[in-house]
Amino acid sequence: MTAPVRPPLTLRDLRAIPVADLKQVGPRSADRLEGMGIATVGDLLTHYPRRYHDRRNRQEIGALEAGEEATVAGRVQRVAGRRTRNGRAMVEVDVSDGSSSLRCVFFNQAWRERQLPVGTEAAVFGKVEHYRGRVQMTNPVVDVLEEPGAPGAATGVLVPVYPASGKADVQSWQIRKAVGEALDRARVRGFADPLDPALRERLGLVDRTTAIGQIHRPAAFDEVGAATRRLTFDEFLRMQVGLVARKRRDEREGRGLVHRTDGPLVGAFHAALPFPLTAGQRAAFDEILADLAAPAPMHRLLQGEVGSGKTVVACSALLVAVQGGYQGALMAPTEVLAEQHWYTVRALVADLTVPEPGSLLGARPLRIELLTSRTPAAERRRILDALGGGEVDLLIGTHALISEGVAFAALGVAVIDEQHRFGVEQRALLRSGAGTGGTTPDVLVMTATPIPRTAAMLIYGDLDRSELRELPRGRAPIATEVVGADPDARRAVYERVRAEVAAGRQAYVVCPLVEGSAKLEAKAATEEHERLAAGALAGLRIGLLHGQMAGVDKESTMAAFRAGALDVLVATSVIEVGVDVPNATVMVVEDADRFGLLQLHQLRGRIGRGAHASVCFLLADPRTPDGVARMEAMRTTSDGFALAERDLEIRGAGEVFGERQSGWTDLRLGRLPRDEPVVVEARAVAEALLDADPDLRDHAVLRAEVEDLLGDAVEFLFKA
Ligand code: ADP
Ligand code: MG
Repeated sequence: MTAPVRPPLTLRDLRAIPVADLKQVGPRSADRLEGMGIATVGDLLTHYPRRYHDRRNRQEIGALEAGEEATVAGRVQRVAGRRTRNGRAMVEVDVSDGSSSLRCVFFNQAWRERQLPVGTEAAVFGKVEHYRGRVQMTNPVVDVLEEPGAPGAATGVLVPVYPASGKADVQSWQIRKAVGEALDRARVRGFADPLDPALRERLGLVDRTTAIGQIHRPAAFDEVGAATRRLTFDEFLRMQVGLVARKRRDEREGRGLVHRTDGPLVGAFHAALPFPLTAGQRAAFDEILADLAAPAPMHRLLQGEVGSGKTVVACSALLVAVQGGYQGALMAPTEVLAEQHWYTVRALVADLTVPEPGSLLGARPLRIELLTSRTPAAERRRILDALGGGEVDLLIGTHALISEGVAFAALGVAVIDEQHRFGVEQRALLRSGAGTGGTTPDVLVMTATPIPRTAAMLIYGDLDRSELRELPRGRAPIATEVVGADPDARRAVYERVRAEVAAGRQAYVVCPLVEGSAKLEAKAATEEHERLAAGALAGLRIGLLHGQMAGVDKESTMAAFRAGALDVLVATSVIEVGVDVPNATVMVVEDADRFGLLQLHQLRGRIGRGAHASVCFLLADPRTPDGVARMEAMRTTSDGFALAERDLEIRGAGEVFGERQSGWTDLRLGRLPRDEPVVVEARAVAEALLDADPDLRDHAVLRAEVEDLLGDAVEFLFKA
């Protein structure tokens, strides 16, 4: 009799085992690990080393020269904590490697005493100083290699160094031991591999058991490389399978509308525009038309630089719906934006009529309404009645459009101006909730954020894409100047504002971002408005716009600025997107280094929209390398795509996309733009896998991983 063969461990199996089940992890350590987000063996094994300490690659302490940067390793001989004369915590740690002793001095890091008890083996990296006849490093980087009393070189040549937590009191060696135990106990069963051997071979990837083992316990650096490649691929593959599966499901199951694309309304609209469509707008609209004419529901992303003319394209798509007797909806992420769209679209379609066969004239004016959470109740009722009766042709608004009680008679096309603020879930809600008679409306998502192609594959991987890359002709370029703290330079900025106003132009002053407090932000803007009106810009007509104002006040301020009744608009970042006043040629951004790169780019896009040369002043005195890098990028680049790449490099993909797509990414190793080729490859593999096996029936391991990644958002992508 043979013992039953137990199948390899899946990630789901591993996530079901609490870390406390490991002998190496007592109840106290379990709590501490949990404090770091490591609750299960699955979490533990995907807590990858930050780096590896190479035991062969160290210098002898006795041979160190002052001024050089060096890595040394040895045992702690002495630890002493005290306070300096001015009250700062100071910890001295003497480390010896047999050749000599090095003194490490830490300021304001009292926890080093607990981290480095006598007997600990540690590697330290820093700049060598000679101080009173001693070799010393001040605040060096420390990797704890072995706990006190461990035999020397208990681990291999490469010692994994884990992201540990001084605060949570978890040491790298504790994590290493727990990981070691988990790996040992998993050895018999191994780890289930979502990729079959033939595919692994074709992709040149090691199997998962090897990968997990070697990323934690490599014998050599090339093992780390191979393991990392494999595990990074898995991260991107899970996401791409989820996105492609969603796209396929929508195509398969959505009963879409076949729109009439030859009606008169769109032609009349284009004929009435004061300009011809650019070639890019034409091409994007043709792609949209093809989607609208096809029976499958459209689910397309329209991506274009700020000011590239997306609104005209989106409006054309909405009118395709209207000319066939359907309704159109446009949803924007903020009230100001919704109002701006309403204003713009209303002007664009002002003279259009909708065919109405039964009526006397055979036509009626096109009806367009605005619905936000601030719409008064009576007004809202009136709009919703008309919407349900089919009398409203276009409805523009905020997420109020997907709120309780909003029912379209026949929604044909929905445009979502996403600007990175809506997630996949909201999009799904509009698609599912709003359709009538079991059909799915066609959806066009607009974004002005220039997203690098592969990043778009991550966020919008379930959408088709159209891009507007050229700006409409006749735009003057925008110069960008970074202005430091020098009062004379700042005075010159406001002189320039006055000069532009004297020449008939208008200006924006953007007030500092106050993270997490719209109230404080509004207060700052109000004070700045008063300060400028009484000082640098006295005598000019200055308006104020911030997020705490009532909707009608915002709208009337914007209307006054548009009409030229205000010279200067002092505003918070509410004007970031969508606001379109071609006569505005100057922008002053205060504390510009507090804004993100893409946010600044969006802000700057508010000027340079007309024929006059424009200038953007970034008032900033950045103290961090990031801040300096961002200001420099803004000064030298106007290409949004290039800025988006820089932003990814500076911040990393997790931060850029994590917040809004949580549940859709579990990137630990993967990084953009560095890993672009991996994303492309994972996308191709995901498509091939789903071509051959749409429900992943023969890929149960992969299917489970994708389902776990998507969590609640999974909504039956696969038939079980
Ligand atoms: P986006 O929404 O992409 O930021 P908009 O649609 O607001 O851009 O267009 C920006 C400005 O360019 C608007 O003033 C618009 O009227 C104008 N515009 C749009 N398309 C064209 C075109 N084909 N030729 C000239 N100007 C255009
Ligand atoms: Mg269609």
